[in-house]
Amino acid sequence: MSTLVVNKPFDITAIRRDFPILSIEVNGKPLVYFDNAATTQKPQQVIDALVDYYTTYNSNVHRGVHHLSQVATDAYEGARLKIAQLMNAPSASEIIFTRGTTESINLIAFSFGEAFVNEGDEIIISAIEHHSNIVPWQLLCQRKKAVLKVIPVLDNGVLDLEAYSKLFSKKTKLVAVAHISNALGTINPIANMIHTAHEHKVPVLIDGAQGLPHGSVDVQALGCDFYCFSGHKMYGPTGIGGFYGRLELLDQMPPYQGGGEMIKDVSFARTTFNDVPYKFEAGTPNIADAIGLAAAVDYLEGIGWEAIEKQEHALLLYATEQLIKEGGITIIGTAPDKASLISFLIDGVHPLDAGTIIDHFGIAIRTGNHCAQPLMDRFCITGTMRASFSFYNTFEEIDSMMTAIRKVKQMFL
Ligand code: PMP
Repeated sequence: MSTLVVNKPFDITAIRRDFPILSIEVNGKPLVYFDNAATTQKPQQVIDALVDYYTTYNSNVHRGVHHLSQVATDAYEGARLKIAQLMNAPSASEIIFTRGTTESINLIAFSFGEAFVNEGDEIIISAIEHHSNIVPWQLLCQRKKAVLKVIPVLDNGVLDLEAYSKLFSKKTKLVAVAHISNALGTINPIANMIHTAHEHKVPVLIDGAQGLPHGSVDVQALGCDFYCFSGHKMYGPTGIGGFYGRLELLDQMPPYQGGGEMIKDVSFARTTFNDVPYKFEAGTPNIADAIGLAAAVDYLEGIGWEAIEKQEHALLLYATEQLIKEGGITIIGTAPDKASLISFLIDGVHPLDAGTIIDHFGIAIRTGNHCAQPLMDRFCITGTMRASFSFYNTFEEIDSMMTAIRKVKQMFL
């Protein structure tokens, strides 16, 4: 990482003050926000960056010689560079901005599919994927008459790596797997999985929607070919995200959408396309939110990835301990290596009923299938309750959740 970052000491009170929404009340109670895997809250620094863009240099990028356009272009391309440095991408042109993980995976499924996937070819995904890393591959397989193969998951939420290594064939074209499961918290051993795939000369896409927010990611050390992310899950605005793609592959992939920015020359006879990353960024990009995302990265680096991981891990351990101590609770997903989220059920209580009562206490947890219906089917359940923690959460907030859980048990059992 080339930017010099001086981390402040981890001061939870000061950190919480940076997030205006954390001081609101919900249902007459202080908000306890445990839905961070769905989207994270935004620090004032990100909100200020958006306001600053719109109030002082709003302009279209790459098009004007005028001052504002140049300032906006510098800020937008600066955001790309910041993401490249964050992920240790070899070059900023290997970072493509999109609306987020879903759009990134759809773009790659279409474009990689056009370039490399033919009838009878195979794509490997896993049993713990989010719908966003299932459906685009199903659509590709339908379009190309290709075959989708699925890595099974063991009862504790860990992928069956022995089965994985047996899924490869001469027809395998890509592996697409989550870095961290949004439904179980499992951290997949992606470095090993990438190594296995590369032994078969198969490229790997990592769905990093839950990965990038939780710790530093080094795409060169991992050796992955694509790494997708969402800005809104890492304290940035909604509507911005993107992916790292290996240049050698990106250069061979056709554009996903046509329009402005992605062309070199257009005539009615033929169009030649721009170089990456612009080949994949048709139309006016999401300038403001890319700038907001860069502010989020600055903010996270100011706290420091080590401090973030330490606090989130401590919260995970404490919450797990409290839930086990409470009894009458089933934790779904007990992998030894987990991110700071817990999926669980209060035995005998429907998760939707429990979630509704818990909301009365001002506590936001997620209930449902977490966009992972095949995974819920695997565990023979319709959904879970999910508490997902950020570094701005506190142990006292977990105590409040436990009080609410006790109330649910009193009401329903
Ligand atoms: N993959 C995973 C693992 C996710 O958790 C999510 C969001 N819940 C997505 C993909 C989709 O992300 P987005 O909605 O930001 O495109």
